[in-house]
Amino acid sequence: MVKKRALQQWSVEDSAELYGIRNWGAGYFNVSAAGEVTISPMGEGKGPQVGIPEIIRGMRERGYDMPVLLRVENILDSQISFLHESFRNAIKKLDYKGEYRGVFPIKVNQQQQVVEKIAQFGTRFHHGLEVGSKAELIAAVSQLSDTQACLICNGYKDEEFIDLGLHALRMGFNCFFVVEMPGELDLILERGEALGVKPSIGVRAKLSVKAGGHWTDSGGERSTFGLTPAQIVDVVDRLRERDMLDCFRLLHYHLGSQVPNIRDIRTAVMEGSRLYAGLVQEGAPMGYLDLGGGLAVDYDGSHTNFVSSRNYNLDEYCADVVEAIMTILDEQGVPHPHIVTESGRATVAYYSILLFNILDVSAVEFGSLPDQLPEDAPESVRNLREVLHSLTLRNLQECYNDAIYYRDEIRQLFITGRVTLRQRTLGERFYWAIMGRIAEEKTKLKHVPRDLADIDVGLADIYYGNFSVFQSLPDSWAIDQLFPVMPVHRLSEFPSQQCILSDITCDSDGRIDHFIDPQGMKSTLNLHPLRDGEEYYLGVFLVGAYQETLGDLHNLLGDTNVVSVRINDDGSYEFVREIRGDTVSDILGYVEYDPRRILEEIRTTAETAVRQGRLTPSERFSVMQAFEDGLRGYTYFER
Ligand SMILES: *Cc1c(COP(=O)(O)O)cnc(C)c1O
Repeated sequence: MVKKRALQQWSVEDSAELYGIRNWGAGYFNVSAAGEVTISPMGEGKGPQVGIPEIIRGMRERGYDMPVLLRVENILDSQISFLHESFRNAIKKLDYKGEYRGVFPIKVNQQQQVVEKIAQFGTRFHHGLEVGSKAELIAAVSQLSDTQACLICNGYKDEEFIDLGLHALRMGFNCFFVVEMPGELDLILERGEALGVKPSIGVRAKLSVKAGGHWTDSGGERSTFGLTPAQIVDVVDRLRERDMLDCFRLLHYHLGSQVPNIRDIRTAVMEGSRLYAGLVQEGAPMGYLDLGGGLAVDYDGSHTNFVSSRNYNLDEYCADVVEAIMTILDEQGVPHPHIVTESGRATVAYYSILLFNILDVSAVEFGSLPDQLPEDAPESVRNLREVLHSLTLRNLQECYNDAIYYRDEIRQLFITGRVTLRQRTLGERFYWAIMGRIAEEKTKLKHVPRDLADIDVGLADIYYGNFSVFQSLPDSWAIDQLFPVMPVHRLSEFPSQQCILSDITCDSDGRIDHFIDPQGMKSTLNLHPLRDGEEYYLGVFLVGAYQETLGDLHNLLGDTNVVSVRINDDGSYEFVREIRGDTVSDILGYVEYDPRRILEEIRTTAETAVRQGRLTPSERFSVMQAFEDGLRGYTYFER
């Protein structure tokens, strides 16, 4: 499709289709008539709209270098609203008697400004927080002020963790202790008694259901956390023995993250509801059913049960959940509980975009082929030339195999010293000429054999982006998660180049070579040729969940600059929060260097150079200035 269109006229509509932006953009992202990616924070066709290039211009004017993590605050606001509105609609429509109480699991994005905004935007819906460690609990208590919102304590808890939660309860927070391991119960009860606070207790159930997907090992019988039905019954007995059964208020399970299939979600809700009903029948007061996370994000826009997608939308999710709970509880005559979900990914993914510029391109160089081979051309080079001349549509696979064979032969001869550097280079030129011809010819085939399809990757241009996969897109590196990537401007032009992306770590893993595609996945991305003296900007979208604190300091590239904008009703925007990325000095500090010691040591080296007559004293001054500036600088490529 790409090629055919190019021959006619390329339009922004073709770009929208090629990059699938309307499929994965959830109405927040679109392409303008001017060929720029726009942001509509209220959702499709509603409210104001701003072009990303305009925001980049604003950042550059304020002195922010790429890469930048752009956060659009109102998208977060919208996502929280949509989640609550969808549940409210389902609850109203089905006449469900309980309420919806969402919580945000802090581990999905622990950044202070993110948690602060969620607490702030969420107040009107009593949106709470979920924590899995002492640090997260302390952060949550500091950010949350709504005492009607739930504060859910998951994770393995020591005495201090429990005490902190009990103090939160005392201050009025609606705090729940979720028992993840049987041993925790006694400690919670003991500490509650010691501090004179009655804890609200929940249990995490191990369901027998296991969902499909990338991140779903937390579900199923083999999951590491949670209690089996027998252990849950034991909790009931132990609480009843101590006359504390009235503390048992919540049942929780977590299937895992990014559950692509609604059927798995439904089956889990049904099993969870049965357990819940069983506990009520055992005499526990209960009142809350917490379904954990799992609400998926459609990263590839395919609306399927593929791992990077989901075969349901938010309204369907909410309706299915509410209906499944009602069906089972009504049948058992059990009152409807408040429904809690711990949606992290779906809440924050849309709100961050990684923006970076392209620094350089490396393309396969075909070079020119000589009309006549030199006298001393080795046999394998002659054979390659023969292959090139005999290539037709009918023998593509054969020519491909031969080309690889002779190329490997030449390499081997080179290593053993029987072919010169120049002779080898000539062979490689013929090889690439053959690959280029095969790539052209194969477009005429109906079914392209797998080997031949891979040629495109070999022939792809490598675009070097000013970012680090390890720091900013760890899941892309670690588990091949797909994120939508596309240029944020020039979308009215034909993107003629087939590319893969490399970051600036020079690590062979520091690349992106799988891209979203409505048919699954593709191994190259269409991009525009670079223009002299002009920056080319790409965006990686839907990166708000899980990417920030999983990132590491590979090659000592640090945190990027972070800029939060708020888009006003009149389409203007303001920079509401800016965080400078790590400086070189910060990063060296993380790995235990002392920047002052570094300077002292370099100064000593420079002084020795002065003594030896290699530097003049004033040259020493400028050397030291360069190193001091270097320590203060950004860890990424600066122009
Ligand atoms: C990670 C986690 C979540 C978040 O899941 P998402 O799929 O991101 O919504 C919720 N609950 C628990 C217990 C988790 O461990």
